[in-house]
Amino acid sequence: MRVSQMFMPTLREMPAEAEVVSHQLMLRAGLMRKLASGIYSFLPLGYRTFRKIEQIVREEMDRAGAQELLMSAILPAEYYQATGRWEVFGPDMFRLKDRNGRDFCLGPTHEEIFTETVKNEIRSYRALPLILYQIQTKYRDERRPRFGVMRSREFVMKDAYSFDRDEAGLDLSYKKMYDAYCRIFDRCGLDYFIVDADSGAMGGSGSQEFAVKSEIGESVIAYCDACGYAANDEKAECIPDVCCDDECCMGNDMLPVEKVATPDVRTIEELMDFFGSQPCEFAKTLIYKADDRVVAAMVRGDRELNETKLQNYLNCIELEMADAETVKEVTGADVGFAGPIGLKVELIVDLEVTSMKNFVVGANETGYHLKNVNIGRDFKASVVMDIRKIVEGDKCPKCGAPVKIARGIEVGHVFKLGTKYSEALGCVYLDENGKERPMVMGCYGIGINRTMAAIIEQNHDENGIIWPISVAPYHVIIVPVNPTETAQMEAAEKIYSELGKAGVEVMLDDRNERPGVKFKDADLIGIPIRITVGKKIGEGIVEFKLRKTGEMVELSIDEAIARAKAEVEKGLAL
Ligand code: ATP
Ligand code: MG
Repeated sequence: MRVSQMFMPTLREMPAEAEVVSHQLMLRAGLMRKLASGIYSFLPLGYRTFRKIEQIVREEMDRAGAQELLMSAILPAEYYQATGRWEVFGPDMFRLKDRNGRDFCLGPTHEEIFTETVKNEIRSYRALPLILYQIQTKYRDERRPRFGVMRSREFVMKDAYSFDRDEAGLDLSYKKMYDAYCRIFDRCGLDYFIVDADSGAMGGSGSQEFAVKSEIGESVIAYCDACGYAANDEKAECIPDVCCDDECCMGNDMLPVEKVATPDVRTIEELMDFFGSQPCEFAKTLIYKADDRVVAAMVRGDRELNETKLQNYLNCIELEMADAETVKEVTGADVGFAGPIGLKVELIVDLEVTSMKNFVVGANETGYHLKNVNIGRDFKASVVMDIRKIVEGDKCPKCGAPVKIARGIEVGHVFKLGTKYSEALGCVYLDENGKERPMVMGCYGIGINRTMAAIIEQNHDENGIIWPISVAPYHVIIVPVNPTETAQMEAAEKIYSELGKAGVEVMLDDRNERPGVKFKDADLIGIPIRITVGKKIGEGIVEFKLRKTGEMVELSIDEAIARAKAEVEKGLAL
């Protein structure tokens, strides 16, 4: 393509609304434009990369034996009502009515619809296993759309669904998808974690997320270099550890409980100052609303409660910190003085608290705390379990080595659903003995737009994007320094046509712009190979440059063409 004819509106200025590099660069490089909050249009250059990612996903799905189809984005409410998700999605679901008042939604994800389709067509065990997928637009009215297409309200997802006779079959389908995902993200040039993820709310038996390593990622990942363990922090199991030695709480005998006046002391920091002790000598009691009941949860003073673990245990849809009024009702005290003794609600205590002695808790009386409190002697837990968030240095639940914490962008998710949807919608088959059984399902998603943004997060420098060849909108850009010089333009045209013939995707920057402008644009839009035709064309020499390494060599025209072909081949070979 000749750049003079391209719709490629690049920007010199940093767009004010973009907080992260990928968002900034996608706007600056003219890949997309915003229409409304969380809603974007792809422009030609951006759409080329988008389609390449889509194609990689498609090839790997097909290679794994999955079959592509396409479903509607506008979906009748009844199937989501049957599984309860019409309510579960809440305000995240875009809803609409047709002219007859029938309820519809814009599909946020299609488990129900695939299940219904398979249910209507398949009767026998002989038709299983089956993996179906689509690459299709999804709609979610996200509470906080942000970072451009990273979290948008309309996005394209590859969603696949597997249908098997039994758990063993599901394991095989799951493994196929898992392997395909590895190939997809490898081909996209991404460095990623595969993390154990929580499967509570979806009611499945196992799930893993593919998370691209990045500071701006929303997933917090605990991983262990020693054994390779990696888990989402919502899921990562915490192994109880002794907080410190006999210096503080551990070595002492149980002391008598003391009530201490602590006016205006509410936060853990204020308590530490007041008592002159360490956070591990406190236990905080947190009051939660879980659907319509009120519960209390206790973790060590310096720990964070893991709401996912608590929510899974309570099996509730909504979990939120109780308001001040509710806290007062159940504790009899203002916020900041809740404690375990005399509480009238269910108390879930973190495992770690059981190894603490003589600790400080709220007294359930405004302005007071209790000292030297001990679990067992002074209060009882309704249940003791792991409900805290893992932190850097905690023991790896697999091997005991200290874990590290990193951030990642979730780009894909593989999930063993089991029979949740097939049972809710009656998706059954007849086995060899003519007995009716629910199909065992899995679901597998990849966000195409988010993957594109994640690739930029990992592949850029101060000058712009550095596309891996596999997803670059074009492989090569030819820059004649002065297009009015016949010799330069002739050589540029020759390279352009020969590379084009060889199947290399090539741009020719024939604009009458200063070379600096053209070099800046080439770097910004991230074309992997630049061939510059300048004064040395008199000696038959051009400049060949790799965007990624900055490596620059002078080559003859033929050498430059051969090298470009070789680089492209190498880049696509993964
Ligand atoms: P998140 O926790 O980030 O909201 P999710 O768990 O809701 O993601 P899934 O329902 O598993 O995501 O969707 C599968 C994939 O779709 C995700 O891995 C992600 O790549 C993509 N995705 C989900 N929500 C969005 C969004 N709002 N914008 C862009 N991509 C998204
Ligand atoms: Mg989400």
